[in-house]
Amino acid sequence: MKANLLDFDIEGLAAFCAGLGEKPFRATQLFRWIHQRGEANFSEMTDLAKSLRDKLSVSAFVKAPAVLSQQASVDGTIKWLFDVGAGDAVEAVFIPETDRGTLCISSQAGCAVGCRFCSTGHQGFSRNLSTGEIVAQLWFAEHFLRKHLGQSTRVISNVVMMGMGEPLQNYAALIPALRVMLSDHGYGLSRRRVTVSTSGVVPMMDRLAVDCPVALAVSLHAPEDHLRSQLVPLNLKYPLVELLGACERYLAHAPRDFITFEYCMLDGVNDSVEQAQQLAAVVGSHASGTDWCKINLIPFNPFPASGLLCSAPERVQAFARALMASGLTTTIRKTRGQDIDAACGQLAGDVMDRTRVQERMSNQRTVQFVRAPSTLAGAAS
Ligand code: SAH
Ligand code: SF4
Repeated sequence: MKANLLDFDIEGLAAFCAGLGEKPFRATQLFRWIHQRGEANFSEMTDLAKSLRDKLSVSAFVKAPAVLSQQASVDGTIKWLFDVGAGDAVEAVFIPETDRGTLCISSQAGCAVGCRFCSTGHQGFSRNLSTGEIVAQLWFAEHFLRKHLGQSTRVISNVVMMGMGEPLQNYAALIPALRVMLSDHGYGLSRRRVTVSTSGVVPMMDRLAVDCPVALAVSLHAPEDHLRSQLVPLNLKYPLVELLGACERYLAHAPRDFITFEYCMLDGVNDSVEQAQQLAAVVGSHASGTDWCKINLIPFNPFPASGLLCSAPERVQAFARALMASGLTTTIRKTRGQDIDAACGQLAGDVMDRTRVQERMSNQRTVQFVRAPSTLAGAAS
């Protein structure tokens, strides 16, 4: 069977080339053609010996999953839907800003964690993406955008693993994909500009720290275990004290001297000033006080099946003020691409649910509100 070369990091490609009787420097040349130049056609790789190009054309190919759709938002955000076969499709989103270009990519078709407030979680889980399918999102987007913008230099400066799926539940495919992103012969992204976001798979956080330490974002969403377990069921396995312990250990290896905590603002569920103070106390009781982390408040992007509403802007502000008063650096995430359903938690793609998550979710008790949702207007903001 022919190999898709997007599946390999540089060591993997060197091993593949060795199998063809080629020296490691040939793999480096080939890797640069593919990732730096976006070339998929071996016959165009003119500085490779004709004999190698011939061997490659019988044993390998370079191909991204087909693009099913491309949508552009009024704010410049672009969303692609990739067909990964057997009825599964995953999404990637490009978010341009003045000083950077960020690509948000998916790691799985669906997600088995099943968070209440996440549309991917509501869809259930189909399968892990391969390394090639993860890398292909970057390969395709980077080279498409260069052509589209008429630019010969790099367009994507940051990658966030914040699309569909839990990256640390697809660890074996994730690590080579991260290495392709970081490689000087690949995309040459700095470790500080590649972020893995996790709902808290503690043992894999420890492994990531050793295998490929990149920037880490941890989805917290609640200041105590009872509520967190309802929102992020993985908390039953890895409760807060263990999760925060893993964050502390990660810091020693992290390319930045802080960890980002993501906190999705759900009206009447996790957004009171008391909960902000509780969050500050929990975080502040770990490591070096409060300056080892940043809190990123994400306004909830509603979707009907969640039964949840987003907090009104003034409640988000009050929550942020309470955190800052406790010494925590806090930001409020600007929502991008909402008109094309490309905002956080809205990526749903199309997934064959093989775990019956949808059925289990609909049978589950809904999240307990700590107070009545404030206004329905919050849902539209
Ligand atoms: N599985 C990983 C990464 C993908 S989700 C994780 O959970 O961290 C990326 C971020 O989007 C997470 O912080 C997640 O909590 C957040 N998110 C999910 N659904 C959301 C929604 N409906 N509105 C706002 N943020 C959401
Ligand atoms: Fe999975 Fe992350 Fe969505 Fe939770 S928030 S269901 S972990 S993708």
